Amino acid sequence: MNWLAVAVALLVATATPSRAVIDDLIDSIQLATQKVLRLFDIPKTPVTDPIYGANKPKVTKLHYDFIVVGMGAGGCVIANRLTEDFRSTVLVIENGQEDNVITDIPAANPYTLLTDYSYNFETEPDPNACQGMVNQRCPWASGKGPGGGTILSGLIWTRGNYRDYDNWASLGNPGWSYQDVLPYFLKTENMMEPELRNSPYHGKHGFVPVEYVRYVTPLLNSFLKAANFFGYRIVDYNNPYTHVGFSQIQSVVKGGERVTAATAYIKPILYRKNLYVQMRSRVTQILINPLTKTAYGVKFVKRGAVRVAYARKEVILSAGAFNSPQLLMLSGIGPADHLKEIGIPVLQDLPVGDGLKEHVGMHGLTFLINQRVNLAPLSVFQGIVINALKYFLTSSGVLKTLGCEGVGYVKTKYSNLSRAQPDIELVFIPSAFNTDAGVLLRKTFAVGDELYDYTYREIDGVDSFSIWPMLMYPKSQGIVRLKDGNPFNQVRIWHNFYSEGVDIAMMVEGIKKAVQIAKAPSFRKYGSILHRTPFPQCKQYAFGSDDYWACAVRTMTTTWHHQCCTNRMGQVVDYNLRVRGIKRLRIVDTSVFPEIPGAHTQAPTYMLAEKAADIIKAEWKMYSIKVS
Ligand SMILES: Cc1cc2nc3c(=O)[nH]c(=O)nc-3n(C[C@H](O)[C@H](O)[C@H](O)COP(=O)(O)OP(=O)(O)OC[C@H]3O[C@@H](n4cnc5c(N)ncnc54)[C@H](O)[C@@H]3O)c2cc1C
Repeated sequence: MNWLAVAVALLVATATPSRAVIDDLIDSIQLATQKVLRLFDIPKTPVTDPIYGANKPKVTKLHYDFIVVGMGAGGCVIANRLTEDFRSTVLVIENGQEDNVITDIPAANPYTLLTDYSYNFETEPDPNACQGMVNQRCPWASGKGPGGGTILSGLIWTRGNYRDYDNWASLGNPGWSYQDVLPYFLKTENMMEPELRNSPYHGKHGFVPVEYVRYVTPLLNSFLKAANFFGYRIVDYNNPYTHVGFSQIQSVVKGGERVTAATAYIKPILYRKNLYVQMRSRVTQILINPLTKTAYGVKFVKRGAVRVAYARKEVILSAGAFNSPQLLMLSGIGPADHLKEIGIPVLQDLPVGDGLKEHVGMHGLTFLINQRVNLAPLSVFQGIVINALKYFLTSSGVLKTLGCEGVGYVKTKYSNLSRAQPDIELVFIPSAFNTDAGVLLRKTFAVGDELYDYTYREIDGVDSFSIWPMLMYPKSQGIVRLKDGNPFNQVRIWHNFYSEGVDIAMMVEGIKKAVQIAKAPSFRKYGSILHRTPFPQCKQYAFGSDDYWACAVRTMTTTWHHQCCTNRMGQVVDYNLRVRGIKRLRIVDTSVFPEIPGAHTQAPTYMLAEKAADIIKAEWKMYSIKVS
């Protein structure tokens, strides 16, 4: 970086800019240098982690008050809030590796999804869905590293509808109605946009910054104008009274950079002496006394060595909707028949792994345009040096794109919900599978060769955009089970997408709405036209007919990574999130959602964890730090 700093300084000197500009540049260079150096942070001792454990002595303690398994969205909040009480020690154990400068770049997520920052689950084959994907299996990413899913996420900030939480409460979970959870949504958030900051439905003092992304294409404007053209309002979709409508995406970035759960909740408190972090450590079992059915610690593996840590107060599972059920089952908590089949002694018979929910989607719509006003990944790659310099030195440019820009909430004719509750979300994407010539995005979603070559190869690199419909309240639900007793093997996932016919009917309507939006005059000026080469699996149907779209959703099936509901509140855990029948074991992650909310799941997870922290503190009579 030194030659660069000198070059920039010389340039600056000859242009005789103001002192403030020079200071800004020096700050940017220092920041960039620090980020690059972080890339080379390699653990120097077997037990002390860079970044997350650097300020601690070698971690040799065996006993902690709380052990948190997983440093994802739920785990980071819990670790932060419980260490507010300096009398309590908290150990967080995370399987993934440290984050780095690349993971902070919002535009990098199609790449990071293919790295070791994801578990890269795969679904079991099912004739109802994923037919066009490699081996007829849908890939299903799940975050691995500080921040969990938020290290990979599209950073879309949505809370869902207020009725979602009233429904949680009505399912037998007192304390989880909208009125109960709204204060926790507010507590999480630091809304940076002036027009939303003073709304009673936004927070100002939370750890999670929320902004509109600064880098957007002109197509976003066309999307919002198209919404107006068809009679939709531009709304704050996180305000409970204005959910149906369109908007630019509210996103979890600060100055355009990714803010993970670890960036928001853990990095600011690493100085706390009572917080301990073990990275690159996989928990393989929860230790439970079989006589008293009390959790007292965990077994974990770090760099090949088996270790244990003991919890004086509680073990808190925040390993996510696939790995939390896995750990419960490995520890003898789950469906008795299944555990016996695998050969695991049954400690507690519970419906662990049942009721998996996900917002299923169809990412295949491609609208061709005649001008380069979209996001053209190939030219981003070609100009990577300039783009990187812009990102690091001037905090601007295309690397700050989220890859998605706008969102619309609409209702289909099949909805039996209130008029004010949408059932389809339309996400505006200023590129498509073909725009990077099938290099990256297609691999991220495991689009099969037959489908890609037949449908998209002819438009490789052609400027395009897409609109991705998402089913907000799927009826179909799946199952998660162990493959075997090996804790290092991935779980098996039966998605059961579209096992309920109404899910298909709604998605077909959602697709038709997306196609309609793209026909608005605001898009026509770019010559927008729907790419009409059918999916090979569906060519027997008339393109654009309901039968064609029904086949399309079964063929190009995509997950939104909102896996949840596999340890449901009211079934596996009680409304205080304690595992039924087991003492001192709690779960705080998306697995305990009693039903999927009509939201991307990051904000609801933060809310859930903030509330869980208060529940835990009240039970153990702990201190809180008051926020003004
Ligand atoms: C690709 C992708 C895109 C997404 N986009 C968005 C978006 O735009 N907006 C949004 O709101 N949400 C989004 N999400 C969803 C959101 O990130 C998740 O809902 C949220 O992170 C879930 O939090 P969690 O606490 O349940 O689990 P996670 O965040 O998944 O965290 C679980 C953590 O536990 C660790 N862990 C698992 N097993 C073990 C073990 N045995 N031992 C030790 N550690 C373990 C994992 O490594 C992981 O870090 C996205 C998710 C993904 C994967």
